[in-house]
Amino acid sequence: MLFTPEHEELRRTVERFCREELNPHVDAWEEAGIYPAHEVFRKLGSLGLLGLTKPESAGGANLDYSYAVVMAEALGACRCGGVPMSIGVQTDMATPALARFGSPELQQEFLAPAIAGEMVACIGVSEPGAGSDVAAIRTTARTDGDDYVINGGKLWITNGAQADWMCCLATTSAGAPHRNKSLIIVPMRTRGVVVERTLHKIGMRSSDTAQIFFDDVRVPQRYRIGEEGMGFTYQMLQFQEERLWGAANALQGLDNAIADTIAYARDRKIFGRSVLDHQVVHFTLAELQTEVEALRSLVYRATELYVAGKDVTQLASMAKLKAGRLTREVADKCLQYWGGMGFTWDNPVSRLYRDGRLASIGGGADEVMLSIIAKLAGTLPRN
Ligand SMILES: Cc1cc2nc3c(=O)[nH]c(=O)nc-3n(C[C@H](O)[C@H](O)[C@H](O)COP(=O)(O)OP(=O)(O)OC[C@H]3O[C@@H](n4cnc5c(N)ncnc54)[C@H](O)[C@@H]3O)c2cc1C
Repeated sequence: MLFTPEHEELRRTVERFCREELNPHVDAWEEAGIYPAHEVFRKLGSLGLLGLTKPESAGGANLDYSYAVVMAEALGACRCGGVPMSIGVQTDMATPALARFGSPELQQEFLAPAIAGEMVACIGVSEPGAGSDVAAIRTTARTDGDDYVINGGKLWITNGAQADWMCCLATTSAGAPHRNKSLIIVPMRTRGVVVERTLHKIGMRSSDTAQIFFDDVRVPQRYRIGEEGMGFTYQMLQFQEERLWGAANALQGLDNAIADTIAYARDRKIFGRSVLDHQVVHFTLAELQTEVEALRSLVYRATELYVAGKDVTQLASMAKLKAGRLTREVADKCLQYWGGMGFTWDNPVSRLYRDGRLASIGGGADEVMLSIIAKLAGTLPRN
């Protein structure tokens, strides 16, 4: 049995947090195009929710990854995608490498405050010329005395406009593209770090997404996470977790969209009976519920195996792929049954339609997942 009473207690705590601390403000944050991450993270930190899987020495709870999956799923109770995504960046994208490979001093300086909710973190991998192809990044960090001097820039950086530090992937030497990169902590208020602009997006409106430039940014070499040249490998290592997190986070939003649609379609009368009473409608919704439960089972199974120490790269990639595809299908089909109301901006299903579209693009596009699944199935042609 994967989930214990402790998991269920965690689930209730996170869902309550969504209902009481997030949902009353979501519409205003969506409108503003940003939400107060420092304020929200301080509250999450005081509940111990930003360090579930992190070492106790940095203030974490040192729990296994099933707790992170429960938190990701419970965050789906938030009535937008942007805020959960920003929280996930803090807990499961910007901090895992630091927690695993960072020196104790670096963990005290940057990880402990991120777990306490005193600092907001972001992860800087993608660039204008490198998204799916991570090895193509152009940002460089050259050594100069005891420092690195960083030049280049990052694009699509979640939390970028308000973060205190970035976990930045930069090329630190010549040589093979998978062995010449390092992860370096860059405090965002260092001279030469410029938040150039925030991007105007179709969804995830409450989460700020920034373009950032580095112009001769000087940071001490001790801000490097782990070994030099291992950045690409560290980044790849955490993808199993990121993908499980993303798939788990999709589940409750899908449940909510279907439940909201059932409620609306039950009330709304057309041709003398409710929209829901038309067989095509309740059959379609039943089919979608079945698909969501199948995805939930896949996520839980992959989590169980991962916690048992198995490599779940293929299952986690399948879960991420399925979550992206299913989110698009659920949002589109549910929106249809709201008629014109589904086409309005503030409708919860139209928000899922916009926010959820990212799931097939961010953190590894559907095609990247398909490549991984095919590679592990032995069907990807070798060139
Ligand atoms: C809202 C938002 C938030 C983000 N947050 C962050 C963040 O915090 N930090 C960060 O580093 N990055 C972040 N990203 C970047 C995100 O991870 C990238 O957008 C993603 O990896 C895709 O890269 P790209 O946009 O450059 O698309 P490209 O790499 O140019 O790919 C374009 C398209 O090509 C197709 N494709 C890709 N690979 C293959 C293939 N093998 N075969 C066939 N087709 C293929 C896919 O359809 C893909 O969508 C964010 C992006 C968005 C939109």
